Amino acid sequence: MQYKAYCFDLDGTVYRGNEPIASAVTFIHALQAKGIEPFFITNNSSKTVAELQLTLEDMGIVAQADHIYSSALATAKYITENFAGERALLIGSHGLRDALQRAGVELVEQGGSIVVVGIDREVNYMKLAAAAVAVQHGATLLSTNQDVKFPTEFGFVPGNGAFTELIAGVAGVKPIYIGKPSPLMLKMIARDHHLRKQDMVLVGDNHDTDIMCGVAYGIATIHVDTGVTRSKDAIHATQRVAQLTDLL
Ligand SMILES: [Mg+2]
Repeated sequence: MQYKAYCFDLDGTVYRGNEPIASAVTFIHALQAKGIEPFFITNNSSKTVAELQLTLEDMGIVAQADHIYSSALATAKYITENFAGERALLIGSHGLRDALQRAGVELVEQGGSIVVVGIDREVNYMKLAAAAVAVQHGATLLSTNQDVKFPTEFGFVPGNGAFTELIAGVAGVKPIYIGKPSPLMLKMIARDHHLRKQDMVLVGDNHDTDIMCGVAYGIATIHVDTGVTRSKDAIHATQRVAQLTDLL
């Protein structure tokens, strides 16, 4: 085993919906047998760390809580580090609410100097309007992730990025995105666990979020063919990025 820290994306990499991906589970067990505890990083902000831990347990994986990094947890950390003591207006599910409350972030229904947006399947016009008004009056717009859509058995449905862009468009600002492809979660893993970049590798199924996150942070990446992007397309896309970067 070449690396000390294997950082696995979840959906499309470790499992698909409720189905574990056997090759990933086998690989994770092999790592653990050698004493290497994997990390898990997900853009999903709707679940708490405890719920993600249970989901992994259902797949036959025992994950350490402090090795699970969700965009909800990362957003809460980002706020305590950069906007300590500020009040936040929240659009999001209980996973994000839980992470913010545990971090001591005060939540408000109106106003606030930060607007935090995560996937909220009960979002409505008044919530979006309150967020747009707060941001145009100067609140910072933070969003767990920029995925505009995600696939279901019926077709694509709106992801958190779609609602974030709506608020940003009305208020005329650019959001700060916390989840992949931003390298923030990898940075937090490196800092919290004292890891060097050369000891880390990111394993993911989505070129635009996972692989680009690893590339942005400057660590090795492994693309798996079990989810969103096919490996042959990811290789071509990453080579194009590498060549473009060389030109800079
Ligand atoms: Mg994925």
